[in-house]
Amino acid sequence: MQCPACREAFSARLDGEPPGVDPAELDRHLAGCAACAGWAERTELVTRRARLAPAPPVPDLTREVLAALPRTLPGARVAARSRLVTSALRLALLAVGVAQAAWAWPALTSGAGAMSAPVHLAHETGAWNLGVAAALLAVAAAPRLAPGTLPFLGTFTALLATLTVADLRAGHVHADRAVAHLLLLAGLSLVATIAWRRRRRSRALPALARDRVAA
Ligand SMILES: [Zn+2]
Repeated sequence: MQCPACREAFSARLDGEPPGVDPAELDRHLAGCAACAGWAERTELVTRRARLAPAPPVPDLTREVLAALPRTLPGARVAARSRLVTSALRLALLAVGVAQAAWAWPALTSGAGAMSAPVHLAHETGAWNLGVAAALLAVAAAPRLAPGTLPFLGTFTALLATLTVADLRAGHVHADRAVAHLLLLAGLSLVATIAWRRRRRSRALPALARDRVAA
């Protein structure tokens, strides 16, 4: 084995790489060549010192890096505003639901308060109106229920609104009674808004995830 090949092979072995020659032959050359043995000893020492040497000091940039970060992550502000709007909608729905229940209660318990309807008809009216209040309160408590209540609330409100307008014109209902139905309109609007926002968000989330995967 020639000296340059010996030193190349030794250097490779020192770096943990395959020496490319027969290790026994390498050791034999080192044992027989004082120049290579001395070179190998020095090389080993330098490598060892380089590996054990402490890392050069670097400035601590933690504060600068943290200061350079945005205070809120992109999208966090939008999400916080969205949560605030959802909370406001739920609170408004809670208020409408409670008002609707308070309005329905007298007709349900005493048969009174449903104009001059027969007692059982007043009871039915009270039960229907309390059912509506329960639906509104359920959506306020669990917004995921919003889409499921829409067919009933929507139909009931549309029919009642149309009939109430006709009854007002014909003088079959007093304005104060008709105004109470505005609670129903407000409740339906809030439920529909909550359902629409949830639908929009559930559509946006997969798209967002897709964009992140693609990025
Ligand atoms: Zn040699």
